[in-house]
Order: sequence, then structure tokens, then C-alpha cells
Amino acid sequence: MINRRSFLTYSSAMLLSMVMTKAIYAATIVKTNEEWKKMLTPEQYDVLREEGTERPFTSPLNKEKRSGTFVCVACDNPLFASDTKFDSGTGWPSFFQAMEGAVETKSDTKLFAVRTEYHCSKCGGHQGHVFDDGPQPTGLRYCNNGVALKFVPKES
Ligand SMILES: [Zn+2]
Repeated sequence: MINRRSFLTYSSAMLLSMVMTKAIYAATIVKTNEEWKKMLTPEQYDVLREEGTERPFTSPLNKEKRSGTFVCVACDNPLFASDTKFDSGTGWPSFFQAMEGAVETKSDTKLFAVRTEYHCSKCGGHQGHVFDDGPQPTGLRYCNNGVALKFVPKES
């Protein structure tokens, strides 16, 4: 028979695992902060793991116009196709559509405004925010930190 004490221990373990699952989203790549620090540059770590924002107009990817794919710099998950990129004038690489299943979103109330944060579905790394003032056909603007992306040119 299950006693009260072991039942309580079991319940709190369940609750803890639920909270932890939520904190790391549904990411399939799970690493500790120490492990991420070892494999990312300080700038990448700040954006991907701490939801930092790079300074605008600093990413060389703003000017990237070749055909190819923008992948997550931490785990190589393909996030955006080059033909969904547009010049938003904001100073951050911008896209009107993410690849299917590539990103997940959550509400972010930092800066007292509700914004929609999105992150890589594979490693949970923060990428940027999505706004509803983008061009057609989606009307969306994925405002992405360039430091969180890597460009893979299409092989000709
Ligand atoms: Zn990733």
C-alpha cells in the first residue's frame, strides 16, 4: 500500500518534471547552461539562452541575398528559406514565414508590452520576436537575431 509520505514525494517529483518540461519547451536537444556556454560564443549564448537582443545593423546576414537556408546556429535546424527574407529596415534579418514546425512561440511581457517570442523547436534557443506588420502573403514579420542564425548557401 502507498503511504502518504511516498505519495507526496511522488507528487512533487511529477510537478517538478512538469515545470522543467515547460521551462525547456518541447526541445529535443537538452543541454545544461554550462554545456551551452562551452559550445556558443558569449554573444550567441546571450541571445539563444538568455533571450538577449543583438544591436541592430550589426549582423552581416542583414545583407545576405543569396539563395539558401537560414539554420539555427546552435543545432543546424533549418528555420527560414531565403525566398521568405525581406528588408524590413529594422536592422535585423527579417522573414515573413518560418519553415513548417521549425519554431515555437510564447508570449513575452518584457518591456511591458506583450510580444510574441519564438524559439527553435529543436534546441529551444531564442531566435527573435514575431509581429503582425509583415508583408503578404502572411502579414507576419519574424524579426530574428542574426547571431542566432547561420546561412547555408544553396549548392549550385
Ligand atoms: Zn536550434
